[in-house]
Amino acid sequence: MNYLKFSKSTSILYTKIHQTSIKTQLKCFYSSRREPFQSDSFLDIGTRQIYEEEHDIFRQMVRKFFKDEVKPNEDKWAKAGQVDRELWLKAGKLGLLGIDTPIELGGSGADFLMASIVMEEQAYANSSGPGFHVHSHIVMPYLARIGSPEQKAKYIPGMTSGKIIGSIAMSEPGAGSDLQGIRTNARKDGSDYVINGQKTFITNGFMCDVVITVAVMDPGAKSVAHGIGLFLVDADNPGLKKGKKLEKMGMKAQDTSELFYEDCRVPSSALLGKENNGFYYLMQELPQERLIISVVGVAHAEFMFEETRKYTVRHKLAEIKSEIAVARTFVDRCLLLHSQKKLDMTTAAIAKYWTTDMQNRVANQCVQLHGGWGYMLEYPICRAFVDARAQSLYGGTNEIMKELISRSIFP
Ligand SMILES: Cc1cc2nc3c(=O)[nH]c(=O)nc-3n(C[C@H](O)[C@H](O)[C@H](O)COP(=O)(O)OP(=O)(O)OC[C@H]3O[C@@H](n4cnc5c(N)ncnc54)[C@H](O)[C@@H]3O)c2cc1C
Repeated sequence: MNYLKFSKSTSILYTKIHQTSIKTQLKCFYSSRREPFQSDSFLDIGTRQIYEEEHDIFRQMVRKFFKDEVKPNEDKWAKAGQVDRELWLKAGKLGLLGIDTPIELGGSGADFLMASIVMEEQAYANSSGPGFHVHSHIVMPYLARIGSPEQKAKYIPGMTSGKIIGSIAMSEPGAGSDLQGIRTNARKDGSDYVINGQKTFITNGFMCDVVITVAVMDPGAKSVAHGIGLFLVDADNPGLKKGKKLEKMGMKAQDTSELFYEDCRVPSSALLGKENNGFYYLMQELPQERLIISVVGVAHAEFMFEETRKYTVRHKLAEIKSEIAVARTFVDRCLLLHSQKKLDMTTAAIAKYWTTDMQNRVANQCVQLHGGWGYMLEYPICRAFVDARAQSLYGGTNEIMKELISRSIFP
């Protein structure tokens, strides 16, 4: 199959899928489609009651993209600590970026179910290089939801085409789990803001063209959370310095950087949303961010299971398959809830915590079943194991997820 042929019809496909998405949600109760754990392989196309035939056609195209454009380059990119810019342009051309951003804003205009296919296929390709999910489904939603018309026009079409790469900078050396510790500040100076501070662990931080920067704008607010603002800082701003690409245990082809703000002057038009509302905006986006991590977690576990099938330790594989089947069912349900705008903070936390812990259990067991080869980088399971490790850390650590879940039990 020539996937470039599909690129021409991607937008027609998106429209069709968008129209059928409600139908999908109703039909899934009566669908004749099998679940992946009822199929020969978790990776079989044509399974999952939450999807339809149009999704399968799209999935074939995305699978081919990762097979042809990503897999052969992953080692090269791992050495470079980043992917090529050209990859972003190719993904943009095929309509794989900003998939669920409304078409009238310059996005691709499909829905989150469609977007989840790209996340899953990247995991099935055992690829952690491209930072597409952060760009398309963490950064772009802020612009679509709270961006001014000028900000939307300036960034969204370029982000959909892959010309503009986006990142989001919350974490600092002294503020990760607890954003109350944020020191980066934005001081008003005439009609401008002047940002000073430091961020760390920023995905796409080295390659980004724009970074949503979380900064304290009212140091006198009753708590840090009440005085936080979000700012769109362009990478060519002379006050923004990119640090080195951080050397990580895994996910080596994905760039993760420090960022330094030294009297970084931005106009008032760079403020994203309203003054001091940043914390509220961040909280609104977190369930989706955690769902993305779960979607990747389950798909990656499915990939690892398939890689390990040939090591016929029957009961161990039975245990692994059962764990994945349970996670798959729960996450598909979360995807439907999210499509209906019903995914709440607690449910997203349950999904994030449980699926990423499961992914790491599966990774550990699959390495074990490979024997010594499991420790050799030439075997995909080895990279899968180290890549999986970050999943329980970012997006809120799993300890924080348990804290959130316990708040629903002990309000
Ligand atoms: C590969 C990677 C990519 C990342 N990408 C980004 C990005 O793009 N943008 C961004 O802003 N950040 C990013 N991060 C940062 C990530 O979100 C943080 O690392 C994470 O939130 C944890 O914060 P921390 O590292 O400061 O750890 P800490 O908050 O210092 O936590 C240390 C330990 O203490 C535990 N802990 C902390 N508070 C509590 C509590 N209240 N109860 C129980 N246990 C607690 C934690 O669970 C953890 O085990 C990334 C991180 C990694 C590893």
